[in-house]
Amino acid sequence: MKIDSKTKIYGLVGHPLEHTASPAMHNAAFRALDLNAVYLAFDIDPMAFEDAIKGLKALKVGGFNVTIPYKERIIPLLTHLDSSAARVGAVNTVKLDDSLLKGYNTDVIGFLAPLLELDLKLDEITALILGAGGAAKACVRALLDAGCREVIVLNRSLERALDLLKQHNNTNILKVGPLNEESLKGALSRASLVINTTPVGMYPNVDESIIPKALLRSDLIVYDLVYRPVETRLIKEAKEAGATTISGYKMLLEQAAESFRIWTGLEPPKEAMLKALKLELGVEDVG
Ligand code: NAP
Repeated sequence: MKIDSKTKIYGLVGHPLEHTASPAMHNAAFRALDLNAVYLAFDIDPMAFEDAIKGLKALKVGGFNVTIPYKERIIPLLTHLDSSAARVGAVNTVKLDDSLLKGYNTDVIGFLAPLLELDLKLDEITALILGAGGAAKACVRALLDAGCREVIVLNRSLERALDLLKQHNNTNILKVGPLNEESLKGALSRASLVINTTPVGMYPNVDESIIPKALLRSDLIVYDLVYRPVETRLIKEAKEAGATTISGYKMLLEQAAESFRIWTGLEPPKEAMLKALKLELGVEDVG
C-alpha cells in the first residue's frame, strides 16, 4: 500500500470505535482498485466533535462515515443534505466536494439490498421492527419507501417509538407499541418479516435473543442487524425453526459499498470488501 503526499484520506467518526469493520472493508476496496487512498477510524470525544469535523474539512479528506452517536449531530455542520439523509433524519456518509460537506444516508440502501435479493412482494407483507433507535429509523424509511403493506415497531421505551411515528406524520401504515412478551406474540402472528435493530445478542452478550425460540416459525424471514457474531443466537434459532435468515453483515457490506460509490464514483469491488469483512469478523463461510 502506497502512502505519499497525494494519498486521499477517508475514515469513520464515532465513539466508541473499538470493533469497527469499516477500515478493513474500505482499505480492501482501495487496494483492489489500486487507489491511492486510506481509510482510518477516528474515535472522537463528544466534547471535541465539532472541532474534529472542522479539522477533517481543513485537512481536505475525501469523505467519512458517521456512526453512533453522531449520525444526527453531524447534520447542522453540513452544507448540503442529500434526500437519502433528509428523509431519514440521519447521516452515515459525508463527502467533501470543494470544501463543501455533503451528507448522505446509505443505511437505507444497505438494509434493503439483501431483502430485494429475496424477491419479496413487500406490498403484501407486514414487517415487524424490534427497536426504535437510529438503525430502526433507516429500516422504517426503507420499508415505507419500498411499499411495505404494514410496518410495526415495538420498542422497550414507548416514547421513542412514538417519536418515530410522529416523524412519519402518524401514517397509518406504521403502528408502534411497547416491546413485551404479549405485544411481541401478537405482532409476530401478523408479521412475515421480523427485524432486530436492538443490540440484543451482540458480542459479548451472545447468549441473548430478543425473540423466544418458541415464537419462531418456518414461514418467517428473520433479519438481525447485529453482525458480531455473524450468527447470533436469534439467527441460529431461526434457522433451526426453518426460517429464512439474513445476517447483519450483509447490510454492513452494502452500506459500505454505497458509501464507496458516493466518494469515488466507481463501482465498489464488493468481492474484495466481503473477503476483508469475513476476515475481520473471523468467519470463513458466513453463507
Ligand atoms: P441505538 O440508536 O442506540 O438504538 C438501540 C435500540 O435498541 C433502542 O430502540 C433501544 O431501546 C433498543 N434496546 C437496547 N438495548 C435493549 C434491550 N436490552 N432490550 C430491548 N431493547 C433494547 O442503536 P442503533 O444505531 O439503532 O444500533 C442498534 C444495533 O444495530 C446495534 O447492534 C448496531 O451494531 C446494529 N446496526 C447494524 C448495522 C449493519 O449495517 N448491520 C447498521 C446500523 C446498526 P430504548 O429506546 O428503549 O433504549
